[in-house]
Amino acid sequence: MTFNALIVEKNDEGKTSASVQQISEDQLPESDVTVAVEYSTVNYKDGLCIGPGGGLVRNYPHIPGIDFAGTVETSSDDRYKPGDKVVLTGWRVGEAHWGGYAQKARVRADWLVPLPEGLTTRQAMAVGTAGFTAMLAVMALQDHGLKPGHGPVLVTGAAGGVGSVATAILANLGHEVAAVTGRPEAADYLKSLGATQIVPREDINETTKHPLEAETWTGCVDAVGGDMLARVLGQMKYGASVAAVGLAGGAQLNATVIPFLLRGVNLLGIDSVMQPFDNRVKAWQRIAQDLPMDKLEAMIQPATLSDLPQLGRDILKGQVKGRVVVDVN
Ligand code: NDP
Repeated sequence: MTFNALIVEKNDEGKTSASVQQISEDQLPESDVTVAVEYSTVNYKDGLCIGPGGGLVRNYPHIPGIDFAGTVETSSDDRYKPGDKVVLTGWRVGEAHWGGYAQKARVRADWLVPLPEGLTTRQAMAVGTAGFTAMLAVMALQDHGLKPGHGPVLVTGAAGGVGSVATAILANLGHEVAAVTGRPEAADYLKSLGATQIVPREDINETTKHPLEAETWTGCVDAVGGDMLARVLGQMKYGASVAAVGLAGGAQLNATVIPFLLRGVNLLGIDSVMQPFDNRVKAWQRIAQDLPMDKLEAMIQPATLSDLPQLGRDILKGQVKGRVVVDVN
């Protein structure tokens, strides 16, 4: 029995190329659970793994796809049986292990989460790692005292995957949301997700000589990092927190410690890859509860396996809006 997969190969010159090919089930790696994949998605990391690799992919040929949702076909683990609907994000699947850009995947039972009640496999992949991480960021901000009614929450990289989902969740929870975007044409889209203010990227993406500026934001979900994060730290209100999620604008942090010392600002690190199972289940339940499904639907760009090489290039250039849902069948 053969099935379709997006295979990335590397030639002798070290150049990678991706194409849809037929492979057989016995080529899948040994593991506990075989899943008939229904949907996958495209995250920034997928762009790296479809294309240049970014140091993430260990061996070629490789099947990328850091997320998938589908139905269990066979399982040697008691926690899962044929017919169960499951979701996978993280655990370096799609990087160090073969991932979700195929009609079948075989993975460890520890890496799976039962599909949360109230979500379809398609909706789960519209959320994907990007949306799951946005939820983790909102949960971390809430754990550090974020409440509606105390001023705007800043979301950077707002028209991207993490930013779109964070905007919709925060707005639904009653927050004013200030959405930072480099794409003025995305303003209506961001307002439709619930953003109350659009902040042009150029207003905020350069460092300033002043370590402290006016106290403006009561929280921040930051998908951009780099100089934008450094700048935002000095604009946070007293005691407010920034959830550092991404590095779309750079990994270097050229900041001072003054906002931490004089304003008690917190910088919270958010990792989605190695999250423990219990917190994963909690985050998925919160997604089903706090993310309006009509807003999620408005973020979706549908795709197939053969669209992935182009989408991989697009996401690395920051040109994907919202969330891609890949129907692998
Ligand atoms: P997307 O490409 O969908 O979104 C990133 C957004 O950042 C873009 O849409 C763009 O938004 C903005 N952006 C891009 N380049 C720049 C730049 N040079 N300067 C300022 N803004 C820029 O990616 P995702 O939402 O999937 O991921 C966002 C980040 O979060 C990535 O760095 C990713 O690696 C990271 N991430 C981390 C996770 C974790 O576990 N910590 C999990 C998931 C993602 P706009 O056009 O609106 O300006």
